[in-house]
Amino acid sequence: MEHPWLYAESIRSASRAGRAGDLAVIFDHKRELLALGLWDPDSPIRIRVLHRGKPRPIDRSFFAERLRDAMALRAELPDQGTTGFRVVNGESDGLPGLVLDRYETTFVLKLYTTAWLPHLPEVLAAIDEVLAPERVVLRLARAIAELTEKRAGLKEGAILAGTDLPGPLVFRENGLRFRCDPVRGQKTGFFLDQRENRARVGGLARGKRVLNAFSYTGGFSLYAARGGAASVVSLDSSRAALDEARENFALNADVPEVARAKHECVCEDAWSALARFAGERRRFELVVVDPPAFAKAKREIGAALSAYEKLAELACALLAPGGELVMASCSARIDAGALAKAIQAGAAGAGRRLDERLRTAHASDHPVRFPEGAYLKCIWLRAAD
Ligand code: SAH
Repeated sequence: MEHPWLYAESIRSASRAGRAGDLAVIFDHKRELLALGLWDPDSPIRIRVLHRGKPRPIDRSFFAERLRDAMALRAELPDQGTTGFRVVNGESDGLPGLVLDRYETTFVLKLYTTAWLPHLPEVLAAIDEVLAPERVVLRLARAIAELTEKRAGLKEGAILAGTDLPGPLVFRENGLRFRCDPVRGQKTGFFLDQRENRARVGGLARGKRVLNAFSYTGGFSLYAARGGAASVVSLDSSRAALDEARENFALNADVPEVARAKHECVCEDAWSALARFAGERRRFELVVVDPPAFAKAKREIGAALSAYEKLAELACALLAPGGELVMASCSARIDAGALAKAIQAGAAGAGRRLDERLRTAHASDHPVRFPEGAYLKCIWLRAAD
C-alpha cells in the first residue's frame, strides 16, 4: 500500500478551500487521477486516502464493502472463543482515521478526524447492514473531541445507534471472560492489541510466580492464571482498574487454574512498588511490564527511553534465576531496536544478563500496512543468570 496520508505541505494546489469531510480528488503533477481521499482542514494530515484508481461513489455500499473485507480477515476469531476484537484498524483496513472495535454485540466507533462526521449516516448504515450491532458507541481522539461536539453535537461516549448500555459488558477473548466499559474505559474499553501477547504469556506461566506491572484490568494476569501460574500480582496505580481485575478473576472462577492461582492486587505507583518488592527480596519467574505510552511526541523520546531503562532495571532486580521478562511499548515513536537497547542497559544497571528470545507486535486483527501504524512492540527476554 502506498502511504495513506498527504500532509498539507505536499499539496501543490487545491481547486477550492474544502470543508472537513469533503471528498478530495488527488491528481499527480501530470494531471493524472491518483486517488480519492477525505479532506481535513484542521489537521496537518490534510488528506487521508480512501480509494485508489478509477473514481467510484464513496457511499454506504463502499463502506459496506470495506467492512466485509475487514470481517473476512477476522472470520476465525469467534470460533477461537474471541468476541472482543478490532474489526477495522483505520488506514490498514482502508478506512483511514476510523477504528471499529467489537465487544460481543456492542461496537465502538473511534474517530481520529472530524472528516468522518459528514459521512457518519452512511457509515452507520453500512455497519448496520454488515454487522447488525445491538448498539454503536462513539469514542473520540482527544484532538477532535471539542470540534466534534461543536460541529455535530456529539460527545465522547454517545450512543450512535441502538439502545443505551445497561452497564459494563462482558466479552470473551480466547475463551476467557472480561468485563469492559466501552464508554469510560481506556482506548475503546480494552487493550485488544495485546491478545496474542497475552496468550503467549499464558503459555509461559505454568508453576511460576508472575508479576504483571501496569496491569490495567488484569488481561495478562488472567492468562497467566489460566496458564497455571502459582501466583499472580496485578500492579497498577488505578484503583478502578484493579477492582475490574478482581471482577475478571471472579468471572472466570469456573476455570480450575484461575480459581487455584493466588491473585494479589497492588494499587501503587509502579516505580515505587517495584523498588519496594526488591527491598523485600520478592522474586518472580515471570515479569510482564506493559506501561502507557511514554513518547507521544518526538521531543519525549529521550525521557521515554530513560523510563524504559529504569523500569527494566527495577524489573530485573526481581527476576528469579532464569526468570523471564516481557516488556512492551506502545510509544509509536520508539522502535523495537531502541526499546531492546534500553532494556539491556537497564539489565546491566541491575547487574543482570538478559538473552533476547523474541520480538512481537500487535495481534492479527490490528494489521499494519504503513509505518506510522506500527506502535506496539513487545520484547521477550530470559535472565542468563
Ligand atoms: N497491560 C494492560 C494495559 C496497560 S495500560 C492490558 O493488557 O490490558 C497502562 C496502565 O498503566 C493503566 O492501567 C494505568 O492505570 C497504569 N499506570 C499508569 N501510570 C502508572 C504508574 N505510574 N504506576 C502504576 N500504574 C500506572
